[in-house]
Amino acid sequence: MSESDFGFETQAIRTQLERSQYLEHSVPLYLSSSFVFEDAEDMRASFTEEKERNIYSRFSNPNTTEFVEKICKMEGAEAGYAFATGMAAVYSTFAALLNAGDHIVSASSVFGSTHALFHTYFPKWNIETSYFDINKPETIEGFIKPNTKILYAESPTNPAVDIIDLQLLGDIAKKHNLILIIDNCFATPYIQNPIQFGAHLVVHSATKLIDGQGRVLGGVTVGSEDLIRKIYLFSRNTGPALSPFNAWILSKSLETLAVRVEKHCENALKVAEFLENHPNVNSVKYPFLKSHPQYEIAKKQMRLGGNIVAFEIKGGIEAGRAFLNKIQLCSLSANLGDTRTIVTHPASTTHSKLSVEERLAVSISDGLVRVSVGLETVKDVIADLEQALS
Ligand SMILES: *Cc1c(COP(=O)(O)O)cnc(C)c1O
Repeated sequence: MSESDFGFETQAIRTQLERSQYLEHSVPLYLSSSFVFEDAEDMRASFTEEKERNIYSRFSNPNTTEFVEKICKMEGAEAGYAFATGMAAVYSTFAALLNAGDHIVSASSVFGSTHALFHTYFPKWNIETSYFDINKPETIEGFIKPNTKILYAESPTNPAVDIIDLQLLGDIAKKHNLILIIDNCFATPYIQNPIQFGAHLVVHSATKLIDGQGRVLGGVTVGSEDLIRKIYLFSRNTGPALSPFNAWILSKSLETLAVRVEKHCENALKVAEFLENHPNVNSVKYPFLKSHPQYEIAKKQMRLGGNIVAFEIKGGIEAGRAFLNKIQLCSLSANLGDTRTIVTHPASTTHSKLSVEERLAVSISDGLVRVSVGLETVKDVIADLEQALS
């Protein structure tokens, strides 16, 4: 049996660096900022990259290398680089690949800080972004210009849990010779592998389900060797590297990703089904509920429905705020993908600076509530939501 035949869980658990002289079973933490050379020739050959080895932990470190290797196997990618946060991954990936005058075509609904990059910062370098409506994928090609370089999307989206057809994006990217980048944070590599559908690069905030326990920040970009090489060179000079300690934590987390995500999704489906039958709920969005507008696409590209459920509470902004105030067991927090269930009300918090029209353009109605379903006993989570809804 060759290593590449191993299943997802085996790769996650058995991908390991060589053991040290102590023959440790669990990979040790290499908390070292730099590495030593045998002699002048060793040092020369290392710096010219004739030798592949660790030099300095901003470039690489055994713990970050192991974490990246695992993600590459899980995503079916050739290479990768690990970052201090998900946003460091998103920013560095764009900054490494774009030149002044380039153009991005992005889904309109992207993570808030990613939107800030496109909207506030990239225009400083004459990089413009056009946004397509997730629910009108037939309009995407109309936004492509001669200087368009990158096609970008997240699926499922945050916070409305819309689904974008990854195969369609892959086909468009191929036809127009664009680099397709997918933020796969909500799905995790266990649920969805965008490279299968034609993505060139996959970005993750490892802070979410990859860590899964609300402990550390991290990010990673994986994809084709040539693009990762550019991202690596940019990053080794600009310094967004993941710390060895966080890499060690995240690599451990990956060993249990499959079982955790299975349980998260099982709980989320039960929460979604409960909400769908509640009289104070107008509608529920969960990719694996038949009522989801893109249910067929979700089934095609996702192994499970994920752990995020969005629902529309009756009564708008005030009802949303009142609901949050009545929550007892679940947490009001900005994170997601934690063992602990987290509820948020985007219209009165993360997206409160947008006008009603701007919010609706990215599928955020006044009554939209997002639940990141955790790993508690699901009946307790449902009981909390039920008392807060009544
Ligand atoms: C959280 C998140 C990010 C940013 O990750 P950080 O680790 O918080 O920097 C990017 N994309 C999505 C979809 C996210 O949920």
